[in-house]
Amino acid sequence: MNEIGLLRPFVVPMRLRFRRVTTRAGVLLQGPAGWGEFSPFPDYGPAYTSRWLAAAQEAATVPFPTPVRDRVPVNTTVPAVDPERAFALVAASGCRTAKVKVAETGQDLADDLARVSAVRDALGPDGRVRVDANGAWDVESAVLAVTRLDRAAGGLEYVEQPCATLDELRELRRRVDVPLAADESVRTAEDPLRIAGLDAADVLVVKVQPLGGVHRALEVIDAAGLPTVVSSALETSVGLAAGVALAAALPELPYACGLGTGSLLAADVTDRPLLPQDGTLPVRRVAPDPAMLDQAAPDPELTMDLLDRLQAAATHLAAAQQADDAHQAGDTAGGEGSR
Ligand SMILES: [Mg+2]
Repeated sequence: MNEIGLLRPFVVPMRLRFRRVTTRAGVLLQGPAGWGEFSPFPDYGPAYTSRWLAAAQEAATVPFPTPVRDRVPVNTTVPAVDPERAFALVAASGCRTAKVKVAETGQDLADDLARVSAVRDALGPDGRVRVDANGAWDVESAVLAVTRLDRAAGGLEYVEQPCATLDELRELRRRVDVPLAADESVRTAEDPLRIAGLDAADVLVVKVQPLGGVHRALEVIDAAGLPTVVSSALETSVGLAAGVALAAALPELPYACGLGTGSLLAADVTDRPLLPQDGTLPVRRVAPDPAMLDQAAPDPELTMDLLDRLQAAATHLAAAQQADDAHQAGDTAGGEGSR
């Protein structure tokens, strides 16, 4: 943390409840390369949040990789709303790709079919429709649902996390023709490699903070060898900029990214937020606006809590890096490394 200058805790309201939270809170870090965002969800422990901190530190201290494009296409997200609302959301978004939430608690397949069909109507024949089940189906339910949703959508681009486990994904993949994307399964650096090896998915959904930074995410994507959709962890525009930087650096970007989530926040930390225009985001760094940071300052209790969480993540990260260094020193001393 020695290169980090400023630490600025923040909290911003969300327009809708998501993952049981109605606000997004975290700490922004300023360093020689710019600003990074540390914003793990409240229920995560230090072993996991240390990755989120590694991502924030990297953004603040290391330049983003060289981009190969200057805008990144993004999807709009359709929550589990009725068909009329779904149509209106997609029509107003300007995006050519829509991700539709399905298999929500309290709804059935008929609701999902009606919503997906309305989204297709809003996009027209050349738009792309994908669905996200957040791991809710078992294999048998998924075979039925995916087949019928594919028909209702006039062709699905892919299905995101239809089942919870990799074994289920692999079995489903043998039984349906629609490509499968792994999202929740991709939470550690080891998992994406397992997914490629297991033949469990056609597409990876990758988020910068959980993987420990843009450069680490590039390594993971490269090793997995699968087409990748970069998504957000519902960051402010500072954190979204790191996701955009990753998407901008990928040699191939066949799918729209899930980085258009800035509109889910009711406030941001900059007056030039990263919001989609005509379905794309510009590739640029974002610095917070001092006045807006003041407005987003949490109360003393939350400030202490956020700084404590950052400290716990930092302690864990330092220990992990020390273990890593010792391991590498051991390899070197041993001459022929096993890498
Ligand atoms: Mg998902």
